[in-house]
Amino acid sequence: MKKGKFIVISGPSGVGKGTICNMLFNELDACYSVSSTTRAPREGEVDGVNYFFITKEEFEEKIKNGEFLEYNIYNDNYYGTGKKFVMDKMNEGINVFSEIDVNGARNIKKIFPDALLIYIAPPSVEELKLRLIGRGTEDIDTINKRLKIAEEELKQVDFYDYVVVNDEIERAKNEVKEIILKEI
Ligand code: 5GP
Repeated sequence: MKKGKFIVISGPSGVGKGTICNMLFNELDACYSVSSTTRAPREGEVDGVNYFFITKEEFEEKIKNGEFLEYNIYNDNYYGTGKKFVMDKMNEGINVFSEIDVNGARNIKKIFPDALLIYIAPPSVEELKLRLIGRGTEDIDTINKRLKIAEEELKQVDFYDYVVVNDEIERAKNEVKEIILKEI
């Protein structure tokens, strides 16, 4: 049986990757790998749907037990991809999506060399700032920290298979969908 493909969607927070992923799940035959994180839930986020929200101690216990395929620290919080879920699905021939950062994507490419890596970029960092302020889920300090990370990330996206600029959500979603349909 053909194994499922690991599809990584990366991009700075506020770029719209979550919206694009949600639209795609309804249109593509794939499942979503829910990551674990130690960051606090944002308003509207649901445990087990957006993330598994766990404590630092719980996360470190899982690291010790080898439960993560990859994990990273982003803006002082741990984020990690559960190994068992991903391996089971891929072995069943099911494609798995994951929203992970640039370091995580680099690690995934080492583990699964034929993983499909797509980076969603903002039209500009200025535009990203406006979107983050508009979203209103973070204070200005956090927004500025995330913008700094975004600027650093944008310098390193060469190793991605595709970079899609989210200038308009429907257009960007369709571009990502076409890429996935072509590659899986
Ligand atoms: P946020 O706090 O905005 O939800 O996520 C912050 C960053 O962590 C984003 O770039 C997101 O893609 C990334 N991220 C989410 N889950 C994982 C994961 O399991 N592993 C890694 N390496 N990064 C993740």
